[in-house]
Amino acid sequence: MSGKLFIPPSEDFESSLPEPAGQKPLAQSPIYVTQPHLPPFDEFVPLLRRIWDSKQLTNSGPFHEKFERALGEYLGVEHIALFANATLALVTALQSLRISGEVITTPYSFVATSHSLLWNGIKPVFVDVDPDTLNLDPVKIEAAITPHTTAIMPVHCYGRPCDVDQIERIADTYNLKVIYDAAHAFGVRTSAGSILNHGDLSVLSFHATKVFNTFEGGAIVCPDAKTKTRIDQLKNFGYVDELTVVAPGINGKMSEFNAALGLLQLQHIDQALQRRAAVDARYREALQGIAGLRCLPMPGHALHNYAYFPVLVTHDFPLSRDQLFQRLRDRSIYARRYFYPLISAFPMYRGLSSAVPANLPAASLAAEQVLCLPIYADLAHADQMRVIETITSVC
Ligand SMILES: *Cc1c(COP(=O)(O)O)cnc(C)c1O
Repeated sequence: MSGKLFIPPSEDFESSLPEPAGQKPLAQSPIYVTQPHLPPFDEFVPLLRRIWDSKQLTNSGPFHEKFERALGEYLGVEHIALFANATLALVTALQSLRISGEVITTPYSFVATSHSLLWNGIKPVFVDVDPDTLNLDPVKIEAAITPHTTAIMPVHCYGRPCDVDQIERIADTYNLKVIYDAAHAFGVRTSAGSILNHGDLSVLSFHATKVFNTFEGGAIVCPDAKTKTRIDQLKNFGYVDELTVVAPGINGKMSEFNAALGLLQLQHIDQALQRRAAVDARYREALQGIAGLRCLPMPGHALHNYAYFPVLVTHDFPLSRDQLFQRLRDRSIYARRYFYPLISAFPMYRGLSSAVPANLPAASLAAEQVLCLPIYADLAHADQMRVIETITSVC
């Protein structure tokens, strides 16, 4: 499969467009793993008009400032910096803390997590995941720390919170920074509040395939105004004022178009999350008790965002994971195998000593067994039943 991990091939998108008049509709319309949530088009038009009238397209325009404030309030975080996407935000987050040397991270993630380290000349050190949560296993972190280790970059995989307390304890003991890749964790809360308030920095993605999208977009949640100022400089070429450049910063700014859309999306996100919750509940009810099929348990204390619906296809199931994947495809259901392959299996990583599969047994098994089923706010009941029946019919 070519292209970015989460995006169906473009011909799939085209085939989801309405059929031209006179042609027969497809017998079974395709069901993708996700479908972006969009506000009513008419609500966006007046905002576009304001951008056209003001001619302020980027560089901290009025929509950027408004969205940044509204987003921080919604998420329950005090300081947040908007970005053009999460990958640039990850790269910048590492720069803002001057991270170098080695960083401990998970192989069970989207490849951008580790790529952001390579972009900074940092060596990723892969540590295995906990088989129950599929998040970085805190028990295994300490053994991977060397004199060169400067930080830990965990991922709240599928929006399920990492063991933030354990990770914090280790980081404090060894004087390490913690940067959470929170690309999946929009809106997630524990009893202690937003999950995004843990660690030194957290990075969000608003890519089209994520729970909350601005077409493309991202953000860094930071602990104080001083850190935010530095991050805002780094995302604008390192400019401090009109004449002063203090660092080799990048262009990571979010445009007015994306910010205006984000502002509008915020008004609809709660309803979208509720509808995702209903899809999640229907899957759990229909799939529980199927031998060999394991749903990840609902995270107990978290306000969950239902970003993904991963199931693990174990050897007790009549089909292998790949056979089930194909069976679904045969019925135009495009479930996705993520995360597979592991990041550590890609050519730019597999030579690292921490990348050997024997070092990563739980992540390797999950990559072999995982299948993410279609989940999105507008998933029709009948379509979800088609997914469920395709799975239960093989049992
Ligand atoms: C989507 C994703 C990213 C990259 O986000 P972009 O906004 O597309 O750059 C990074 N990490 C994880 C875990 C992701 O899922």
